[in-house]
Order: sequence, then structure tokens, then C-alpha cells
Amino acid sequence: MQEGGGMRQELSSTRPIRPTRASVQLLRVADSRRISPTFQRLSFAPHEESFNEEFDFLGFDQWFRFFFWPPLQERMERRAQTVGPVAGKRGSVRADSPAIPAYSANARAGRGSTAYGPRRPGLPPLPWGAADGWYQRYRALPAKNRPTVRNYTIRDARRISGTWYIDVDFAIHRAPDGQIEGRAARWARRAQRGELVGFLDQGRIFRFDGAKGPLLLVSDETGLPGIEGIARSLHAGGHVPETTAIIEVPTSEDRRDIWLDDVLWTTRPRGQEVGQSLLALLDHMPLSGFEGAYIVGEASFALAVRNRCLDAGMPRENIDFCGYWRKAQSADFE
Ligand SMILES: Cc1cc2nc3c(=O)[nH]c(=O)nc-3n(C[C@H](O)[C@H](O)[C@H](O)COP(=O)(O)OP(=O)(O)OC[C@H]3O[C@@H](n4cnc5c(N)ncnc54)[C@H](O)[C@@H]3O)c2cc1C
Repeated sequence: MQEGGGMRQELSSTRPIRPTRASVQLLRVADSRRISPTFQRLSFAPHEESFNEEFDFLGFDQWFRFFFWPPLQERMERRAQTVGPVAGKRGSVRADSPAIPAYSANARAGRGSTAYGPRRPGLPPLPWGAADGWYQRYRALPAKNRPTVRNYTIRDARRISGTWYIDVDFAIHRAPDGQIEGRAARWARRAQRGELVGFLDQGRIFRFDGAKGPLLLVSDETGLPGIEGIARSLHAGGHVPETTAIIEVPTSEDRRDIWLDDVLWTTRPRGQEVGQSLLALLDHMPLSGFEGAYIVGEASFALAVRNRCLDAGMPRENIDFCGYWRKAQSADFE
């Protein structure tokens, strides 16, 4: 799912269903709560009315590019790692920089266009504009204030008095020493109400809503919000094909109600590699009777499940799989 990189080619076989229109939008954190040992649920609300006018809730596993600014300390460390300690010079992140950078409030409207799109006085630097070309505009942002970008799923969205609220479940993943690893996971754990983030709708991956079934849905915890959304949207659409979901989560308390008849959970023993317990479960499951499969999660695990489906005779075109993250590799675009 990385723009311009090989990952999309190699590790996904999806034909996303795009929203009718989408542009980079500014949201703010409306709420944050820990819902289980692994998940932090954040609700976002629009910072500007344009989101309410534009947002096209497609349901299912709709996902988006998520732009955020790690805390200042992390930005300074990251900058020092890439260009060396140049405090005080142009391009550096100074200790007195604001927590979330913003264009000068004095920048005058109409004179604020740059190589990377419009400059919006008083607002944080984002690759403002339409979905097309966002990555080029992102790369052209000044490195010192460029946000970090990751991919997340809209677990659910609701409209209250004309305002959209979007729920996102962040898996808080940890290194073997127990420290939270990953900028997005750390950010999500600490995010405060009112904090600003960028959002760019990417549409949905799941495309089997018209299928007869039976269908197979497989994921680790990162695909759980999407599977929940798929189940909800299938019911809302009035046609729920016979579906088996198999989901691996880090702890049994991370399980939740999924609106499908057949949901199998596996939990990962501490220290075990992601996907192993789920693959062990698949050893005892015939896969030949499924019409199609939707497989998301850690890349090597998603590929392994896809290969088993192929070995079981499932047609390649009926398997949608997507590597959501890679072991020992950050999703950094830089
Ligand atoms: C379409 C799509 C939708 C997604 N939806 C969600 C979602 O709704 N919720 C969600 O939590 N994730 C979701 N993901 C996965 C998420 O984007 C990645 O896990 C991302 O790498 C997390 O960023 P980070 O900054 O925390 O860690 P990174 O900086 O990317 O990685 C740092 C280290 O942590 C490891 N790592 C990254 N993610 C995990 C993980 N989940 N478990 C264990 N180790 C990890 C990496 O291998 C690396 O060693 C989605 C991905 C895609 C492509």
C-alpha cells in the first residue's frame, strides 16, 4: 500500500473501490479510549465543514491515508538521524518549535501557493488538494514539518446533526522489551482531544458483497476493524453470504462481537510470530469449498494464507489479499 513502491504490486492483489471524490482533509481528535489490551479507539471529527460536504462513507473496509505529527522530541530525533544535528539552521526542528507546525497566520490568502500545493495560513502543512498527486505534494513538503503518513481503516462512521464522526481502532504494537514501537502506535496511545490530523479517503478493498459464498475472511488484529466493518455493511446491504472469518489477535480480551455466524479466533502466545497460530488452525481446515477469500494483515502471513488458498484450488482472481504491514519494517514513506 505504499505509493510508488513495489509493495502494492507484490503484496496486494486488490482492485480498490474509490470514493467519488476525495481530497486531503483536516480532522481533530474528538475522543480516545482504550477498548482492549491491544486497541486504542480514536474518534475524529471534522476541523472544517468541507469534510461534512465531501465525505462519502462507503462502509466495509474503507481505509484512508492518515497524516499526523509525532511529538516534537521524536521529530527532532528523526531529523537528527537523517540530516545530523543542525539545530537553529534552516530545515531543522528546534526545541521551541510548536507541537504541530502551522503556516504563519500572517501568510496572506491568495499568495500562499507553493510547489506542493496551497499554503493554508494558520493550518498545518499537509499535501492539500485532490487525491490524485497527493504523494508528489507530500514529498515536496518541507522535510522539517512534513507529517508522518500511515494507513488505517474506518471502523465505523456516524453522522450526528450533519457532522461526521469517524472511529479508528489503532493496534498498539510493542517491541519484545514491552515498549510501544511505531510512530503511529505511540501517537495513538498519547493523542489528546483537539489534536489535528490529516485524512485522505482511499475507498474500500472488499468487493465480494454480491458473492453467493461461502467466503473466507482472514486477518491479524490490523484487519479486525475492517472485518467488523465488512460484517456490518453486509447486513446493511441485506445480503450476507455464508462467511467464515478467522482472526488472530494478541490476547483473548481483544476478541469482540462480529456480526457473522462463523467467527474463529486464535490468540498469539507471547513471543510467537504473528500468524503462526492462525496458520496452525488452517492446517486442520479444508479450504477447497470457499468461493473467494479476503486476506489482510502482516505481509508474509497474508501471502502464506493466499498460497494455501491457491493450493486448495481457489481461483487466483477470487482471492483478495493485502499486506498491511511488514515484520521488522516501518511503513515509512521516507
Ligand atoms: C489498507 C490498510 C488498512 C489498515 N488498517 C489498520 C487499522 O485499522 N488498524 C491498525 O492498527 N492497523 C492498520 N493497518 C496497519 C498499519 O498501517 C501498520 O501496522 C503501520 O505500520 C503502523 O505504523 P506504526 O508507525 O505504528 O509502525 P511502523 O513505523 O510502520 O513500524 C515500526 C515497527 O513496528 C512493526 N509493526 C508495524 N505494525 C505492526 C503491528 N500491527 N503489529 C506488530 N508490529 C508492527 C514493524 O514491523 C516495524 O518493525 C492498515 C494497513 C493498511 C495497508
